[in-house]
Amino acid sequence: MSRRPIIAGNWKMHNNRAQSEELVCGIRDAIKSIDKDLLPEVVVAPVFTSLDVVSKNICNCGCGRIQLAAQNCYYEAKGAFTGEVSIDMLKDFDTKFVIIGHSERRQIFSETDEMINKKAIAIIEAGLTPIICCGETLEQRELGVTDSHIASQIVKALENVKPSDVANVVIAYEPIWAIGTGKTCDSAEANRVIKVIRTTIAQIAGKDNAEKVRILYGGSVKPETIKEQMAQSDIDGALVGGASLKVDSFVEIIKGAMK
Ligand code: PEP
Repeated sequence: MSRRPIIAGNWKMHNNRAQSEELVCGIRDAIKSIDKDLLPEVVVAPVFTSLDVVSKNICNCGCGRIQLAAQNCYYEAKGAFTGEVSIDMLKDFDTKFVIIGHSERRQIFSETDEMINKKAIAIIEAGLTPIICCGETLEQRELGVTDSHIASQIVKALENVKPSDVANVVIAYEPIWAIGTGKTCDSAEANRVIKVIRTTIAQIAGKDNAEKVRILYGGSVKPETIKEQMAQSDIDGALVGGASLKVDSFVEIIKGAMK
């Protein structure tokens, strides 16, 4: 089964409009002459206030090499939900992906598995693709409960999602102890956990659908680590934080995931 790799940059709460424009134009210009069929699917996730400017600059390129993601959304369509943004509102900017369940949202903003499941269902119903994050803490890893914890997060996130829709979701395995720490998870170990995720998905949605799901690794991905990560059987790309904030390092990572 060949799955098209994804390299997604999560810009987190960095970059105002001008900085976002500079960054996306830098990435766009650096990859514009590369054969599209050789590139991974490149995705950038700016803050909400930069979605419009990033969207305009991606569209002006006219070459479809970069897709837009939001870092979050709310599952209700509209109403008295101060501070939230609906999926329809994200569609105004031609947003294609929404990151949900990031460990920062779970830990800092107390997002539960139930909320993540509601978001996943609403995103799929709206025709967008969720990038569903999962991952264990260092304490869970040391207690030996990594696999059961990850499997539980996946089962809960995908509850009541139709098997055929499961095939199109994107999962990001992000060990929390590797995020923003410079400590990358050993590639073989990341691949092992990602296989656990694929087996879990197969139990929920069948083997054929599970084989289609793209599962990314995230956690201190750098230009020096991407080739080894991409060489693993089940790692289909990367969700990149810190190294996605500089044109050079992000473009190196993109190139490291090329065919
Ligand atoms: C992330 O926040 O999703 C992430 C993987 O960050 P970093 O690459 O900086 O570890």
